[in-house]
Amino acid sequence: MIISMQLNATDEQINHVCDRVREFGFMPHVIRGEERTVIAAIGHGDKREHIETFKAMDGVDDAFPIQQPFKLVSREVRHQRSVIRIGDDITIGNGSFVVMAGPCSVETHDQLMSTAETVAAAGAKILRGGAYKPRTSPYEFQGLAEEGLKLLAEARERTGLKVITEILNSEDVDLVAEYADILQVGARNMQNFELLKKLGRVGKPVMLKRGLSATIKEFLLSAEYIVSHGNPEVMLCERGIRTFETATRNTLDLSAVPVINELSHLPVIIDPSHGTGKRSLVPPMAKAAVAVGADGLMTEVHPCPEKAWSDGPQSLRFEDFERMMKELQPYIQVRASETN
Ligand code: PEP
Ligand code: MN
Repeated sequence: MIISMQLNATDEQINHVCDRVREFGFMPHVIRGEERTVIAAIGHGDKREHIETFKAMDGVDDAFPIQQPFKLVSREVRHQRSVIRIGDDITIGNGSFVVMAGPCSVETHDQLMSTAETVAAAGAKILRGGAYKPRTSPYEFQGLAEEGLKLLAEARERTGLKVITEILNSEDVDLVAEYADILQVGARNMQNFELLKKLGRVGKPVMLKRGLSATIKEFLLSAEYIVSHGNPEVMLCERGIRTFETATRNTLDLSAVPVINELSHLPVIIDPSHGTGKRSLVPPMAKAAVAVGADGLMTEVHPCPEKAWSDGPQSLRFEDFERMMKELQPYIQVRASETN
């Protein structure tokens, strides 16, 4: 249920409503918008019978049920888009277009440092790189673990880039959070609910990737796990879904961006590397990501993709990435002029 407060509602009135929400056995989530405060009453059971009680309380403008199964991440609860700040100069979700780039896996010191320097010089703001790799085969490279996290931290020191890296297990949350600026939940873990709950209690932004065969409703319900457990800083990443098509590794669902933007206030990132599996398809889909209203891009870049320990065929060479960043500029400018 949503309880929308009057424009001039006092803190005392807001607190009083929250107390009553708790008395009825629900959890109040106070969302302070630019104009008015909204209180979402979240929990099991039917809240309809309480609506008249809330409507009669001082300071309350209206009370109504939330229609969607996902609550805190829905536009019904929060109309204004969420903006996630990373450090002092990166904002995600406010109309800007942020680029995250780096190797699929952190492999060696040279590989990571040269990639970080190249992508930073070309305009990326966030370095990606997996230290814990969710590989389809147990015989493939599984990642450098903490050694990889240390290399990412060193690359951040050198370049000023922020770091995003994948977290595979609930047990590793504290360790990964020590090194990373954003914690990535991979497609294969989108419904690892224990991990999602734990990430609700971590004080770092989370990027949740869409599961291989997840519907948008399931995707948003997974995000709801993180937000309802206390962490509102969640961004979503469309990285392609399984379809009958075999020409691409996955089918990049670009329509997910406007669909999610209608349903949710969370920022959306596009990953055309995993979304297509093919280097040549990354730049066109990156341009489409700008056009369709995504808040940013995640792409894989490697100094020598044919020698990459994972995902070489979809990794851009340095020169490919530099060219793509130049080619994206006019698209980003057109979009900025449209929103201004
Ligand atoms: C990745 O970003 O390295 C990755 C493994 O992606 P996904 O979880 O989307 O497959
Ligand atoms: Mn990869």
